[in-house]
Amino acid sequence: MKTSNLGYPRIGAHRELKRACEKYWSNKISLEDLIKTGKSIRKENWKLQHEKGIDLIPSNDFSFYDQVLDTTLMVGAIPERYKSTQESGKNILDLYFAMARGLQKDGVDVIAMEMTKWFDTNYHYIVPEFTRDQEFELLSQKVVDEFKEAKALGIHTKPVLLGPVTYLLLGKEKGEGFHSIELLPKLLPIYYSILEKLVDAGATWVQFDEPILSTDLSHGEQEAISKVYKGIAESFPNLKTLLASYFGEYGNNLETVLSLPVCALHLDLKRAPNQLNVILESKKLKKSVFLSLGVVDGRNVWKNDFSSSLKLIEKTREQLGEERIFISPSCSLLHVPNDLDLEQNGKVLSNEVKDWMAFAKQKLEELQSLKKLAQNPNYSSHQLFLDNAASMDRRRNSKLIHKPKVKLRVEQLDEKDYRRQSPFEKRKILQERHLKLPLFPTTTIGSFPQTQEVRRNRSLFKKGALQEQDYINFLMEKTTEAIALQEEIGLDVPVHGEFERNDMVEYFGEQLEGFTFTQNGWVQSYGSRCVKPPIIYGDVSRPNPMTVYWTSFAQSLTEKPVKGMLTGPVTILQWSFVRDDQDRSTTCEQIALAILDEVLDLQEEGINIIQVDEPAIREGLPLRKKDWDEYLKWAIGAFKLSTSGVKDSTQIHTHMCYSEFNDIIQSIADMDADVITIECSRSQMELLDAFYEFDYPNDIGPGVYDIHSPRVPSTDEILNLLQKAENVLPASKLWVNPDCGLKTRGWEETKEALKVMVSAAQQMREAVGEPSN
Ligand code: GLN
Ligand code: ZN
Repeated sequence: MKTSNLGYPRIGAHRELKRACEKYWSNKISLEDLIKTGKSIRKENWKLQHEKGIDLIPSNDFSFYDQVLDTTLMVGAIPERYKSTQESGKNILDLYFAMARGLQKDGVDVIAMEMTKWFDTNYHYIVPEFTRDQEFELLSQKVVDEFKEAKALGIHTKPVLLGPVTYLLLGKEKGEGFHSIELLPKLLPIYYSILEKLVDAGATWVQFDEPILSTDLSHGEQEAISKVYKGIAESFPNLKTLLASYFGEYGNNLETVLSLPVCALHLDLKRAPNQLNVILESKKLKKSVFLSLGVVDGRNVWKNDFSSSLKLIEKTREQLGEERIFISPSCSLLHVPNDLDLEQNGKVLSNEVKDWMAFAKQKLEELQSLKKLAQNPNYSSHQLFLDNAASMDRRRNSKLIHKPKVKLRVEQLDEKDYRRQSPFEKRKILQERHLKLPLFPTTTIGSFPQTQEVRRNRSLFKKGALQEQDYINFLMEKTTEAIALQEEIGLDVPVHGEFERNDMVEYFGEQLEGFTFTQNGWVQSYGSRCVKPPIIYGDVSRPNPMTVYWTSFAQSLTEKPVKGMLTGPVTILQWSFVRDDQDRSTTCEQIALAILDEVLDLQEEGINIIQVDEPAIREGLPLRKKDWDEYLKWAIGAFKLSTSGVKDSTQIHTHMCYSEFNDIIQSIADMDADVITIECSRSQMELLDAFYEFDYPNDIGPGVYDIHSPRVPSTDEILNLLQKAENVLPASKLWVNPDCGLKTRGWEETKEALKVMVSAAQQMREAVGEPSN
């Protein structure tokens, strides 16, 4: 029996990599210094895993930006537009960062490669680009270099490669008439030469990550998998291959996978615990194949329940024997924070809750303990086991987690709680009467610029260096200015500006019961960007109003209807670490009820328009289509639960951005928000086709300018987009707003852009003979 790790966080315990990269990008440190930082992080990680008794320690899991981009560099799939940065005789890392981030320097001006979410995680990878006549070459030998680097430290590692099939399928075809998988014959020779070099360097095990196997593959794609791994086994008979998919079950790819001549097969037993039974009972596992049992959760922060993990290990041992077992995390530990030991402030994370948790370092210890226990016939009396069981018990019975009132409220929900009183047509008439908005009403998505001043004051207040009253006064000043400005610009539906908020999920999490936070619980989101997700450990409720004060304050400053601004239950769930002792759907319902309480309080205070943001609803979709309906049912249900209790005359908005909506348009309509604002400008309103074809019933605010750039759009550009929108949707349904919140923008461009936007809306009104305001 061996312990095997699939990957370790590479940002460093104190985000050293983030700091070093950002300094290098702004010319504050040299390339040598950056490389040194990378080297020292790798060394720390390897040494730590070695100390923690991990038998198969990964290498090449380190990356300066992203492992998919590393692969692009390895196989030399450099898009044409970067060729000039390559030729200027610079280090390959500069080319690499140019692809990741774009480059404007010395007459070079290239945009970055596209970035998108890695399966159903919040990690973003750089999307490979392929052309029809794509050529590959072995450009980077990072994987070999890092294997040798570890070897020089006396650590024999298991190099990790992103498998060729997943790599190709994650890429995007540039140009028509071909499919990326057709490039496989050209790509494979590069993998072969890398494998040769690894073998020469002394590598024995190689891990191939093929997470695409957790999605529905076509017959042709399954054949590609077979071809690749049969070919590798034939050409490298002495190389031991570990094939790893994660984030779900092999499902319809299982037959294919079981027939492969690989040496070990990894199973994500957190997401798909039943997969083990299916495999063992099928008796189709080849006699020579090891199973890597992913029992320790690589996607969440909870301590492993030894008792249930040991049951899975036991069952496997009965059938395969001890030698054929690896004990592993369910996936790379990239997706969890580094080290729970760094959490030493009981006011931020209480000892009681901390006792239930494990971060990456602690998960290594769990792997080691599980191996020790599994090899001990009397493990149930071993101290490691008893301690773990006691901790599990404390969690199960904790008063911090279980709130009978909250549970009862969820149980008593009935179908009416998910439905508005009247259908949209009727609500619309009442709302028109009540709100008296012009045609093409103008609004924004919620946040206004979070200037340095705003962030500095918040951080001073949090540190205790600014008195609460002074901070409140400051926020009042900012909110007052924002309202005055919106009045001056002539926006029909102003917002308070969200100056008091750090982050759209954290702000609510901090005020809800059942949530906790960490000081150092960072995980990589993309490149040097890290996030510190809230942790939902218990039943969720809302002890006090969360946004009423600032929304009402803003409303007191203007005659216009201020739009209240909340984050929706699915987005709060999606961007947090969620408790694993009950269904996500139940947790989501609890959050929905907390948001509903807030919605009703806002309404009570005279707020007649309330926006509940759900930008993360699309990204929560399961990897396999067969699971979509179930997810959508509870996710859409949670949104409706959080918004349906209002009067007909209260107008509910929602906002979504930066995702494909076409395949879930029915569900978006089912949300039954009175108005949906969505990002649209970058696709030149193409997105609206879906709404048109589907005949979307309610009102829509397609974003008319991109908030990612400081560029101020012209009136004509916006008019053009609005006319496009008017071609597919009746004017009576259209709202006018930017793509997303303005918090990352500066004030100058924000003012200008909004003025342009308002004047475009006025021109639209005039064109249909409506008074301009
Ligand atoms: N109301 C939020 C804001 O304006 C919405 C952010 C988002 O869509 N991600 O910042
Ligand atoms: Zn948005």
